[in-house]
Amino acid sequence: MKLQPMPKNRNVHNHRVLHADRGPSHFLRNLLIICGAALVCLILFALVRDGGSPVLKLSPQTGEASYATKFTMQLTSPRSELKELVVTATQEGKRVEVLRRTFAAKTLNHTETFQLPRKSGFKQGSIELSISARSHALLSFLGRGRTSLTEKLALDFIPPQISVTPGIHNVYQGGAAAIAFTVSKPVLRVGVTVGRYFFPAYQQGGKGAYVCYFGMPYDMPTTDFKPRVVAEDKAGNEAVQYINALGIPRNFKSDSLEVPDSFLDSKMGQYSAMYPELKTPVEIYKRMNSELRKQNVSGLLKIGLDTSPTQTWSGAFLRLPNAAGRAGFGDQRDYYYNGEKIDHETHMGVDLASVAGAAVPAANAGRVVMAQFYGIYGNCIILDHGQGLQSLYSHLSKFEVAKGDTVKKGQIIARTGATGLAGGDHLHFGMIVSGLQVSPVEWWDEHWIHDNILKHIGR
Ligand SMILES: [Zn+2]
Repeated sequence: MKLQPMPKNRNVHNHRVLHADRGPSHFLRNLLIICGAALVCLILFALVRDGGSPVLKLSPQTGEASYATKFTMQLTSPRSELKELVVTATQEGKRVEVLRRTFAAKTLNHTETFQLPRKSGFKQGSIELSISARSHALLSFLGRGRTSLTEKLALDFIPPQISVTPGIHNVYQGGAAAIAFTVSKPVLRVGVTVGRYFFPAYQQGGKGAYVCYFGMPYDMPTTDFKPRVVAEDKAGNEAVQYINALGIPRNFKSDSLEVPDSFLDSKMGQYSAMYPELKTPVEIYKRMNSELRKQNVSGLLKIGLDTSPTQTWSGAFLRLPNAAGRAGFGDQRDYYYNGEKIDHETHMGVDLASVAGAAVPAANAGRVVMAQFYGIYGNCIILDHGQGLQSLYSHLSKFEVAKGDTVKKGQIIARTGATGLAGGDHLHFGMIVSGLQVSPVEWWDEHWIHDNILKHIGR
């Protein structure tokens, strides 16, 4: 073992002197470096955590507003919690607080809706909307976590004026009508409402001239038929004008039909893949009628919007030639299976039976907006004739046209068949006004078209 030699006194003294020379300043410098580094880390952390300021998104962005305008404010603050939202409106030095909201802890996203308060007493003219939002940013003293947004808007309280071309509309239950009118200023939404249905109007040229096809639902009581033109401008002002229209009752046929096993066995295979949990054809049939039929019918509303703003049809619509009429529009059908009533349906078109695989002509000139298998309708074609008017051909065996094709009146578009819920080869033909199925019989009649459609739209 080797012992360390004891240091000499002088060495110890020297060492102490040396240490005393570097001592306090060296320690302070290190401390400053450590504190500085910590501060930089803290600031970097705060910058990252603050994650920028809240993001504001205001809608609608029409540049115009009224007391009816429903504004929606979407706030997103990805990392720091939202603290406060303030909305003020200023006009000629007059400032009104529209909204002040403080947020509960942990709120990172928020959607607020608001309207200008009626009691604010603003006048027609320009207004400035100021929106400011704050989050709980760590560096809020440096202005972090604040966002503001200013929107200049034109306040407009004058609703559009609607002038309807005079005339009386006699409309049968399940029938159609058309109207022409002008609107005094640009509008965002314009059309005719009938009960819960909205029929969009289509602008003709400039100068606020519109044409609108509408219909009376087959099951609407005639006393409830009060069609009216509704127009809403960019500021949200709505104008309403009642149409001089008379609802006329129509008698619909009633039928009861036995659903045989042979029909279910041969037809339900098309749909079994949609309902793998169902075991028997009759279960599939019941489910289809409760679900698929509704989906298919509401799908027509969307297809109705895929329309040309101008009229592409002319003259009477063609009926499948050499065909016997089977079921009619509005027929009330009760379906029985082994004596039990399993379904009630309204037949929303006309069934026409010719030879099997008969050539199907386009009832009028138009554009193919659907050519595919469509639920209960089987292979189905829908032609658009403009302004929401469409014709439907279903249970087809073969398509001769494809979606997007333009067709002439009388052009062969398909062959009849028995696809979908059809018991035998026939054509189910329907007419549709902005998604509402109406009686096709009216559209086969040149005189009816003249008196009820063309006369009213000045054609
Ligand atoms: Zn049918």
